[in-house]
Amino acid sequence: MQDCIFCRIISGEIPAKKVFEDDRVIAVEDIAPAAPVHFLIIPKKHFVNALDLDPSDHELIGHVYQVAASLAREKGFAESGFRIVSNNNAGAGQSVFHIHFHVLAGRHFAWPPG
Ligand code: 5GP
Ligand code: ZN
Repeated sequence: MQDCIFCRIISGEIPAKKVFEDDRVIAVEDIAPAAPVHFLIIPKKHFVNALDLDPSDHELIGHVYQVAASLAREKGFAESGFRIVSNNNAGAGQSVFHIHFHVLAGRHFAWPPG
């Protein structure tokens, strides 16, 4: 989608610090990090959010979690702990309407979240 920031990052039109990429997802550092480690795993296919997923997309979301876990191990924050967060719609804090999963680590995270 031409007016979608994340589609434009995926196409390379907007630069981003890439952490990982394969045929289905890209992971980039968040432009406004909320923790010492903060990157976004973004499916390459444009979905608005979880409400936009079909049963045939479930394997893709499982893949996102596998990528998050393998990056957590590779980057050394698996044991200390990390968050995988996806905000759905504006009331929950979604500001970019292309599905994405925040991966946050490197500090203590309170519960419940704000
Ligand atoms: P949301 O608010 O939708 O849950 O998350 C969107 C995230 O995208 C925010 O944490 C924001 O900092 C990040 N973001 C917005 N624009 C850009 C951008 O152009 N590049 C990168 N790398 N991150 C962005
Ligand atoms: Zn998009």
